[in-house]
Amino acid sequence: MIKKNEIYQAEVVATASSGDGICRIDNLAVFVENACEGDFLEIKITNVKSSYANAEILCIITPSDYRKEPECPVFNRCGGCQLMHIDYKKQLELKKQFVFDSLTRLGHLDLSEAEFFDTIGMEKPERYRNKMVFPIGKKADGRLTGGFYAAKSHNIIALSDCLLGDKFASDCLSAVISYMKENNVSAYDEAAHKGLVRRLFVRTGLYSHEAMAVISINGKSLPNEKKLVDKLLNIESGELNLASIIININDSKNNLVLGAQNRTLFGKKSIYDILCGLDFEVSPNSFYQVNPMQTEKLYNTAIDFAELKGSQTVLDLYCGIGTISLCAAKKAARVIGVEIVEQAIKNAEENAKRNGIKNAEFYTGSAEDISQKLLDKGLSPDVIFIDPPRKGSDEVTLNAILNMSPEKIVYVSCNPATLARDLKYLTAGGYALKKIQPVDMFPNTVHVECCVLLCR
Ligand code: SAH
Repeated sequence: MIKKNEIYQAEVVATASSGDGICRIDNLAVFVENACEGDFLEIKITNVKSSYANAEILCIITPSDYRKEPECPVFNRCGGCQLMHIDYKKQLELKKQFVFDSLTRLGHLDLSEAEFFDTIGMEKPERYRNKMVFPIGKKADGRLTGGFYAAKSHNIIALSDCLLGDKFASDCLSAVISYMKENNVSAYDEAAHKGLVRRLFVRTGLYSHEAMAVISINGKSLPNEKKLVDKLLNIESGELNLASIIININDSKNNLVLGAQNRTLFGKKSIYDILCGLDFEVSPNSFYQVNPMQTEKLYNTAIDFAELKGSQTVLDLYCGIGTISLCAAKKAARVIGVEIVEQAIKNAEENAKRNGIKNAEFYTGSAEDISQKLLDKGLSPDVIFIDPPRKGSDEVTLNAILNMSPEKIVYVSCNPATLARDLKYLTAGGYALKKIQPVDMFPNTVHVECCVLLCR
């Protein structure tokens, strides 16, 4: 029997969907953080449960051929990236494996009839994120800090330049912290629900070069707001133009990134960007895919899967600012988008106008409610796109989809576990799995996006 604090030598034989390497000792799976498949390691057991154990690396005896030096100096401490020490080609193989494991082990799905493609990767998997969210807080010694949470905790790991996003975003973080120091502005303390500045949120438009900085605060205003604006506008921003600075009022006790209310401190209320040749306005509270280069590949896959011929009626559930709807509109007779965030639907309607698209209509409300209402009205779409948040869809919505009986369902998912659950429901309801395409929207992390085609 394995015991805590024991030391072993073992090979890493597999990778868990958390990114941990897996060794097998006495028939028990031992999860090792920051290990790489193929490593031969000396490990120390840190925790033993009935069906698995955890261990930490004491020494890498022989490194795996897949191992590479992580580019980021805080990789081992920050919870943002889990796979930065693994060769990119191997990361793509692992992500296909994560999807396969989820669909077969969690969903018990039969994939024998489905085409399962290799993960679509990036040519240069660096600085791909157009959105960075940095929590701001206090260190144990009382000094201000900002960065990312450490894995499985709310301890902030300070960073000077996160390699997933534009350097400009990290520079905005330094500017906000220096403004706070100079103006005696407190950081929010989660435990006490006291203090002012909670987070900095920076969004950049890859093609428009417009940037937005949102400061989320537990209050209505900041002292000397003009000084903050000056500091942010003084950052050397290269091609980027900081077009919008916003105060977001977030005085709730929950941990949502942004509250509902915004006040514009400088410039515009929203920025715009271009995707798949269309122009999109994005407000702070609206969802917008974080990796624009890969989003184009994802949407092209989804629209290819749908085989639109210009005559079909298309329903796009969880449509955000209408990106999939409007990309599909060019090839459909009628598209209908449904989304719960009101600001996002306002963006979607504005986006249809901006792009001269007249065959798209949008509804604010939950997918559950609106899909049922559309069904009651007799809507029978030829194609349904569904792109829910991480928690996946729900049985009310999935039943409405089954009852509308479209010829094709294209499911876009950012969470293989809930994807497996929902696909199980849809296949039990009479749909066959035809195509599965993982897309790497989040290089260096364990996250994987997936586009799936189901046919009636
Ligand atoms: N298809 C869009 C958005 C996908 S993200 C894109 O590619 O950009 C998922 C979206 O679902 C978010 O915009 C979120 O606000 C929305 N959402 C979350 N729960 C919902 C619900 N119950 N009903 C409808 N929309 C919901």
